[in-house]
Amino acid sequence: MKQEWLEIYSSLVKQIEPDYKRPLEVSRKVLCVSPHPDDCEIGAGGTIARATKSGVKVDLVVVTDGSKGTFNPHAREEEVASTRRREQEESAKVLGVENIYFLGVRDGELTFNYDVLNKLITIIRITRPDLVLTPDPYLPYEAHPDHYYTGRLVSAAVLFSGMPLFNKQDLEKGLTPHSPRFIGYYYTSRPNTIVDVSNYVEYKISALRKHRSQFENEDFLLFILKYMELSGSKIGVKYAEEFKILPVKLLHITPFIEYL
Ligand SMILES: [Zn+2]
Repeated sequence: MKQEWLEIYSSLVKQIEPDYKRPLEVSRKVLCVSPHPDDCEIGAGGTIARATKSGVKVDLVVVTDGSKGTFNPHAREEEVASTRRREQEESAKVLGVENIYFLGVRDGELTFNYDVLNKLITIIRITRPDLVLTPDPYLPYEAHPDHYYTGRLVSAAVLFSGMPLFNKQDLEKGLTPHSPRFIGYYYTSRPNTIVDVSNYVEYKISALRKHRSQFENEDFLLFILKYMELSGSKIGVKYAEEFKILPVKLLHITPFIEYL
């Protein structure tokens, strides 16, 4: 994409969403959606800690129960699920997350379905975030359906949550429509926003350590740290996290949005 075209697109976007270059600075409420217990921490833990420490309210949704997240053939799904729920609660505390919504879909079995979509719409109307974080569903070679369906469901939910006829029963319960301003994709190969989390990396690591069932050895933690270092080197800081953040208003019929 030629630079001059990028500038033209950028000025078009500014007419619709003037703050699109500084989504984190203008967001006072954030909702992070995790396919499994631990994904928000891996993909955005530093950014979440940075947000909560500066007074931003962060809530969390965990879509599946993580019940198959083990290599132990003797493990029982219910036990794995309850361990991981407890670990998630402990980890969220470290990061300063306010509420956690567990949707309880069986691990590995998420599809694009209207039950989960409507639950996400309801949670968006309850928590009223400015920014919603979720895995990038367009990450090439991402093999896990829980991840790409979470990203797709959240993308649809932020689009529909502002429209009253979607999941209309919310309105009968007294909720009102709400459109988040931004969606931020973590686990992305096309970042447009790199967040300096150098001062918050300790929170992220201790949050990840709460997921004891997932991080029994240190190798994966070191891998995550190394990747954060590489991200940091792109903006001249020690540790960073990468996102593709887009204005929700353009998440539909906008052919150039992938270049933003
Ligand atoms: Zn996951």
